[in-house]
Amino acid sequence: MRRTLAFFYRNRWLFSRRVMQLLIIAAFAMELPEGGYFAQGNLSSSTWFGIGLTDPYIWLQSLLAGAPLGKSALIGMLIVAGLYALFGGRIYCSWVCPINLLTDLSYWIRQKLHIKSNFTLSKNLRVAILLLSLLLSLLSGKLAWEMVNPITQFQRELMWGSMTGAMVLASIFLFDIFVTRRGWCSHLCPVGAFYSELGRYGRLRVKATQSGACNGCAECIKVCPEPHVLAPVVARKADLVTHGDCTRCGACLDQCSTGALAMSLNLKRAGSFKGIPVVSQD
Ligand code: SF4
Ligand code: SF4
Repeated sequence: MRRTLAFFYRNRWLFSRRVMQLLIIAAFAMELPEGGYFAQGNLSSSTWFGIGLTDPYIWLQSLLAGAPLGKSALIGMLIVAGLYALFGGRIYCSWVCPINLLTDLSYWIRQKLHIKSNFTLSKNLRVAILLLSLLLSLLSGKLAWEMVNPITQFQRELMWGSMTGAMVLASIFLFDIFVTRRGWCSHLCPVGAFYSELGRYGRLRVKATQSGACNGCAECIKVCPEPHVLAPVVARKADLVTHGDCTRCGACLDQCSTGALAMSLNLKRAGSFKGIPVVSQD
């Protein structure tokens, strides 16, 4: 029993995220006995207990495409954008996006099989895809990314099953295993790029706890889906992860055996830690 509890504690962030991700999927997919669902719609646009929520990236594409946007879509977009701006946009990636279940599984398999292939891809590629999707929405009058968005495909796949959706998801899955470490989410997905920008100044951040706790093993960096965000903290050049790419997944906290890292809601913009200046990556 103690071993089981210790195992859960060592992976507390991972299990918490999985519970949240599965609950969100279930809220859309499971029918209530009295009819209807907890959440109506999908992650692009949904209604939770009468409150409409709109994905800001979808809203922006709709705006550029010239789609009619009502007041409720605007309010729903502002609620979602406000929350991600406050806590950090890529929380979406680790705690909400269903594709993360797939890409985390790919990463796990990759580790187990000791696959080292790492085709070089610039992280700027996802920003370029983001900008291209917005330009295409403007020029075509259609929601360009929505036509291929794997997140939407995933939800469709769950509800109805489709060959196209299955092929897109299988491609991402195999790409992440065999071609590049964290290939899709860290290099190609424009949704992640969008949320990274939206939550660039998010206040929920990984921080170093005390000066002596970190032994410099860098185990946290090995498991971080975006290792560049942790590098300044491990190099003791910063006491906070300030980069917008941090997904707040907590993998670094699960991995750290010395308790040198913590997740903190820090409402101040910058600070210092025992004389170590913060190197802001904002
Ligand atoms: S990068 Fe894209 S696919 Fe990956 S978790 Fe984030 S939104 Fe989902
Ligand atoms: S710094 Fe920690 S919380 Fe942020 S992405 Fe890396 S492992 Fe996840």
